[in-house]
Amino acid sequence: MKSKKRWPTKKLLLYGGSIALSLLVAVLAGWTTLAQRIDNYAYDYLFNRYPPANWTPSSVIVALDETALNKMGGQRNYRPMLTAALERIAAAKPRAVAIDMILADKIDDESQDRQLAAAMRATPNLILATELIGDRVDNLHWENPLPQFRAAAAAVGEVYTDRNKLDGVSRFAPLAQSIPGDRRWAFSLEAFRVSRGGGQVIETPDDLEVAGVRVPVSYSSGRALRIRFRRDGIPKLPLYALTQDPSLAAQLTGKVVFIGVTANSAARDRLVNPYGEDVAGVEVNAQIYETLAQGRFLVSARNDTSLLFCVLIATAAGFTFALRSGLAAYLIAGLLLLVAHFLPSLLFQQGIVPPYFSTISAAWLSVTTAAAFQYFTTRGELRKSESDRARYQQAIHFVTHEMRTPLTAIQGSSELMGRYNLTDDKRKQMAQMINSESKRLARMIQTFLDVERLSDGQMEMKREPFVVREVIEGCVARVRALAERKQINIYVDSLTADLVLGDRELMEYAVYNLLTNAVKYSPPQTEVHVETVRQGEDLHLAVRDQGIGMDSKELKNIFKKFYRTKKAEQSGEVGTGIGLSIVEQIVVNHGGRMEVASAPSKGSTFTIVVPAQG
Ligand code: ADP
Repeated sequence: MKSKKRWPTKKLLLYGGSIALSLLVAVLAGWTTLAQRIDNYAYDYLFNRYPPANWTPSSVIVALDETALNKMGGQRNYRPMLTAALERIAAAKPRAVAIDMILADKIDDESQDRQLAAAMRATPNLILATELIGDRVDNLHWENPLPQFRAAAAAVGEVYTDRNKLDGVSRFAPLAQSIPGDRRWAFSLEAFRVSRGGGQVIETPDDLEVAGVRVPVSYSSGRALRIRFRRDGIPKLPLYALTQDPSLAAQLTGKVVFIGVTANSAARDRLVNPYGEDVAGVEVNAQIYETLAQGRFLVSARNDTSLLFCVLIATAAGFTFALRSGLAAYLIAGLLLLVAHFLPSLLFQQGIVPPYFSTISAAWLSVTTAAAFQYFTTRGELRKSESDRARYQQAIHFVTHEMRTPLTAIQGSSELMGRYNLTDDKRKQMAQMINSESKRLARMIQTFLDVERLSDGQMEMKREPFVVREVIEGCVARVRALAERKQINIYVDSLTADLVLGDRELMEYAVYNLLTNAVKYSPPQTEVHVETVRQGEDLHLAVRDQGIGMDSKELKNIFKKFYRTKKAEQSGEVGTGIGLSIVEQIVVNHGGRMEVASAPSKGSTFTIVVPAQG
């Protein structure tokens, strides 16, 4: 059963702290390469599991494939091939034509350039490609199309697709690239913009707006767009077939046409998509265009929202194991883990990509931390209650043993008195002994009962004002005889006249206990000092000795029932280890607290702090 008691602050802090720490570890681990790899795998898995619904593409690739290369003169003959293709394409009235080839190099046969430029001029909405070249910051430059081609184009866009550094898979496309002072929009963004009327790109820190479509690519992400690859790819029309059969051009009417190299032998940019397929650069560009044209984007979950979710999961795990135990706790924890595992795919279907690794690891770490904490504290508490019981049994042994001594004395004396004719003096002596021994027994029993009743909260406490000084003087007088036997002097240093509201008899018990302890646990010929000092609202009643003292570890335990320090056991002084626990109860019941200062062999000061009257 769980306890209804409130947790002590220290335990609460420790619990909250360890869960917070596990959360921190999870979030920090999310930055590691391993976590990023796992996030990538999860992304690709979800990508395969939930591909986008199969829309009708609005783009077509005119493919410069192996056949075209073989039949039309190889790589050296690109320009006549393009010219032939453009003439066919333009006749079909496509929405836009995007040539994914870098037409920057000068060639010997200028007539080829002139013919291509003419074909370009006859092609409305033409987009050409440029590429960032260079391997160092200071030699980066744009490789632009030749001026006569540039003059024929509606726009020039940069062709670059991001490959993941870890696994080479293309998931993102930056929609802008720049070198200082010269920024270019992405080739596919330009194709989209031109095909939708050629308006402006409107920028905000969080997104771009193109032709009325808001594209969620933030400035801080480098305007990176998650490419939503169409599962069945983009339709392709072989370039050679198009030049041979003009009727094929009908497929291009109203479409955005991407022309590019798909031949394995010639393509300079082959990439891998999240489906694990090898794709040509022109196809990736067409896919980016389709992503924009579809307007259904995959966005990364916001960092603060993801963090909030992790905090929520950890908090829920914390409460689960703080308030429940056993099967119930594990069932709820299992449910939490299930939510954490399924959330990424639920969100993915809504177009949101959460950080997979940190979400899952936050859930697992916080749940295991909370469960482990519960396991170890309940084990600790069990052990503590077991040792409590052992101490209790010890005390019972001790008490029964102690009782036997007065009982034997009483038995013996009464037998002697009954059997023999004793002198009056002897008889009187024995009667006195019986009387004092039975009183000792009664006291012992009373103390024992008091402990039980006090700790059960059954003991009634009076609430009357009494003068503390009188209590101290009475106790000191009673302890003097004991002290004299060890030649210990008790000094009453200064006493105030303060009144305290409460139970005088119980307070007497407490003070008497502190005084007898001071005497018991001090070597002969030492001093015990008593004083009261008023501090603000409180009265401090201190008993100081020059005795065996205690270390800080022992100090933590002395108010526990039946606890005795090793030194006390070895001192030969009898004791039960109950006294101080009762003292503390009494002081607490008076609205006060106990303070102890002590060091081994340096003596101890026990101070009762209680609210004073007036
Ligand atoms: P008892 O004296 O019967 O053992 P108490 O509850 O009064 O039980 O005290 C608990 C323990 O605290 C003692 O056994 C002893 O180890 C330690 N203690 C109490 N008072 C003193 C003191 N003045 N100096 C050193 N140790 C003390």
